[in-house]
Amino acid sequence: MRQPRLLLAGLLTLCVATAHAQEHGHGSKDHHDHANEPGDSLAAHQHGVGSLNLIVDGATIEIELNSPANNLIGFEHTPSSEADIARVKDAMSALKQANDLFLLPAAADCTAEAVELESPLFQAVADEGHVDDSTHEHQGHVDASADGATHSDIQAHYRFTCSEPAALDQIEVAVFAVFPATEKLILQAIGERGQQGGELTAENNIIRF
Ligand SMILES: [Zn+2]
Repeated sequence: MRQPRLLLAGLLTLCVATAHAQEHGHGSKDHHDHANEPGDSLAAHQHGVGSLNLIVDGATIEIELNSPANNLIGFEHTPSSEADIARVKDAMSALKQANDLFLLPAAADCTAEAVELESPLFQAVADEGHVDDSTHEHQGHVDASADGATHSDIQAHYRFTCSEPAALDQIEVAVFAVFPATEKLILQAIGERGQQGGELTAENNIIRF
């Protein structure tokens, strides 16, 4: 019996290696919106850009979305004001709508089975009242660089199961419509017919199998 979790872990390792290769292949000067690079611990963190890792394994689809919080919320600092907290909660609600983010063929008859969200910002909202000491080293990290700029990431994990997986010929990624600050998602996908990669954008948002 195959283990989707293990496959996903393997794919993620591959993606990290790829991200590092890309990082070193480019100049690092304009790699990030902010002036001072705190080091390479945030090598994959580039505003407007996220990654999408996807595995179709039989009737199961596993999807992992990694994104700078800025793309989904509009800021990356620890939420403290009422307005900030409301925006974080709005983003959490939108991220939980798996069927609005990933449009699957009706004929495949897929159901979202699970959604898991991880971000220090979500943790901060969940710990409301303990906002000040909840931001470090729980899930991902909020990094304050030398210039005081703060960065944080969001990870969302989805699992769908499909009763007619043979009809799963494509997935339309609607993340760009729901979160317009997302400009590009680096795709790594493994399906029944092998592996594919590339970049998804608002205009090119369909993964075909
Ligand atoms: Zn950032």
